[in-house]
Amino acid sequence: MPLQIVSLITPAFALLFACLFSYLWLSDRSKLHILGYATGYAALVLSYVLVVMVFDGKSPGMTIAVSTISWLGAVAIVWGATRRIGVVSPWVGYLAIGVLMALFTTLSAIWSQPRVLMLAQNTGSSLIFALGALLLWSANSARTLDRALIWTMALFAAHGFSRPLQAMLVEHSLESLRFGVSTFQAINVVIIGVLSVLMAMIMLAGVVQDTMQRERAEATIDPLSGLLTRRAFEAEVAATLARGKAEGIPISLIVADIDRFKRINDELGHAVGDMIIRGFGQLIAGNIRPNDIAGRVGGEEFCIVVWNCNAEQAHVLAERIRTETMGLRAINGDTDIIVTASFGVAGFGPGMSYHDVFVQADKALYSCKNGGRNQVCRVDQPDLSALEFAPSNVVPLAR
Ligand code: GH3
Ligand code: MG
Ligand code: MG
Repeated sequence: MPLQIVSLITPAFALLFACLFSYLWLSDRSKLHILGYATGYAALVLSYVLVVMVFDGKSPGMTIAVSTISWLGAVAIVWGATRRIGVVSPWVGYLAIGVLMALFTTLSAIWSQPRVLMLAQNTGSSLIFALGALLLWSANSARTLDRALIWTMALFAAHGFSRPLQAMLVEHSLESLRFGVSTFQAINVVIIGVLSVLMAMIMLAGVVQDTMQRERAEATIDPLSGLLTRRAFEAEVAATLARGKAEGIPISLIVADIDRFKRINDELGHAVGDMIIRGFGQLIAGNIRPNDIAGRVGGEEFCIVVWNCNAEQAHVLAERIRTETMGLRAINGDTDIIVTASFGVAGFGPGMSYHDVFVQADKALYSCKNGGRNQVCRVDQPDLSALEFAPSNVVPLAR
C-alpha cells in the first residue's frame, strides 16, 4: 500500500505541471513550446494512470499503449524544448524510434516474450530523451537552464536504459520491473518522479526567464530602430561614464539627426519614413563596437556614446555613418529621395556631465543644419568655456 501511495506522487505532480503549462500556454498561445510541455506532462499522467490503475503487467496491448503514450509525451517535451531555442525537430528520428519501439513490443507480444515486453517499456521515451539531450547539446546554448535540461534528459534516458540491467543485478529478475512488485520498483518510481519534477521546474524557470528577458528587451530596445530607447540609453550612459571616469578612458558623444525627415514622411508616406529610421538604426548598429552605446533619443534623432575615443576619433566614426547614410534611398513610386543626416560630436571633458556634453554636441549638430546639412560638426575638448557654443569650435567637414 505505501508503494501505491508513492506511485501516486509522480502523476499528481505531473497533473499539476500539465495544468500549469496549459494555463501558461493559454495566456500566450504563440508560445507553442509551452503547449509541448503541457502535452508531455499530460501524457505522463495518462501513462501513469494506465500503469497504476489498469496495468496487469502481462497485457501486451497495455504495454504497447503505455509505451506509445510515454513516447508521445517525450516527443512533445523534446519538441517544445528544441523549438524554444530554434532547433528544427527531426521528425523522421522521432517516428523511426516510435515505429521501432512499436515493432519491438508487438513482436515480443506475438512471440509471447513477456520479459522482452518489459524491456520495451520506457525504451521509446528513453531514446527520445537521449535524442533531445543531443539536440539541445548540439545547439550549444550558454544558458544555464538549457544545460540543466540537457542533463535531466540524459539522466532520464540513462535511467530508462539501465532499468532492466538494474533489475537483473538487484533482484535477479526482470519480473521486478513489474509495477508495484518490489522495493526496487518503488525506488525507481521515486527516481522517475524526482526527474520529472526537476525537468518541469527547469522548463518552468525557462518560461519565467524568457518572459523576464522579453519584458526587459521591450522596455530597453526601441522596436523601430533596434537601438536602445532613450531611457535605457541614458541609464547605460550613466554607468559607462562612471566606468570611463574611474579608468581614465576618453569618451565622446555623437548626436545624429536625419535631414529633412518631415519631407520624406510628407512625400513618401509614414511607412517609408519608418523604414528609413529602421535602416539608419541598423547602419549605426553596424558601425559601432560592443563597448559603444547607441540609442534613439527622439523621432529621427539618435545618440552614440563612443567608448575609448576622443572627439576627433568619434568624428571619423560619424563621418563614416554620414557617408553610408547616403546609401539609404527613400523610394516610393517615381519619387526617390537620397537620405542624409547631420552629426554633432563632442568629447567628455573632466567633470562634464552627460547633459553638458549633450548640449555641446546638439549645438554642433544645429550648426551643421544651419551650414547646409549632411555634415559632421565637432566640439573639441577641453572646451569648458564652450558650454556657450562658439562657432570657431565647430569643424565642419567638406560635404
Ligand atoms: P531637419 O533637417 O531640420 O532635421 O528637418 P526635419 O524635417 O528632419 O525635422 P523636423 O523636426 O521638422 O521633423 C521631424 C519629423 O520626424 C516630424 C515627425 O513627424 C517625424 N517623426 C518623428 N518620429 C517618427 C517616427 O517614428 N516615424 C516616422 N515615420 N516619422 C517620425
Ligand atoms: Mg531631422
Ligand atoms: Mg529632429
